[in-house]
Amino acid sequence: MLIHTCCAPCALPIIEYLLNQKQNKDIVLYFYNPNIYPKQECIKRLEQVKKISEIYNLKLIIDEYEHDKWLEYLKKSLLHSLESYPENDKRCLSCFAFRLDKTVEFAKENDFKEFATTLSINRFKDTKFINNYGFKIAKQNNLKYITFDLDPFQAYQKEQELIKKHNLYSQKYCGCEFSMK
Ligand code: SF4
Repeated sequence: MLIHTCCAPCALPIIEYLLNQKQNKDIVLYFYNPNIYPKQECIKRLEQVKKISEIYNLKLIIDEYEHDKWLEYLKKSLLHSLESYPENDKRCLSCFAFRLDKTVEFAKENDFKEFATTLSINRFKDTKFINNYGFKIAKQNNLKYITFDLDPFQAYQKEQELIKKHNLYSQKYCGCEFSMK
């Protein structure tokens, strides 16, 4: 299973869940988050994902940092200036779609049958949109989209506990330049 990994904190409860279910054999973490700004912040978050991939002995694939491509996609998808949208509004939905589309593209090119995203359990995100979109593109591409039977609030508590345990960096803003304030 290819798991699009937005950051280490969000991946932790999912990895633990899969380990408890004894489903850890074929997990591959996929880091593709060109939304994160500046690049230094993206590198910082990636370092944390590398750390957990080592802790849990999971394969990690790192894709390109295409921030300009991400910006262009959002500008084409939206009517108004990107900074005018509040968090969890249309800008974010396009941002989720962009990263999920790329995950599917990678999954298909590399013969994965299933994919998931750590965004799917984030209590701060529109998980209804994320999961509906995941199921939709999975169907279109003959893949299986996986969701996790985790309560977002309990997952968040678990995440906080594991961040402390593994001494991980936990970001203070979602990712893009528009979310920094
Ligand atoms: S606030 Fe977060 S989800 Fe929304 S566009 Fe920015 S990085 Fe993407």
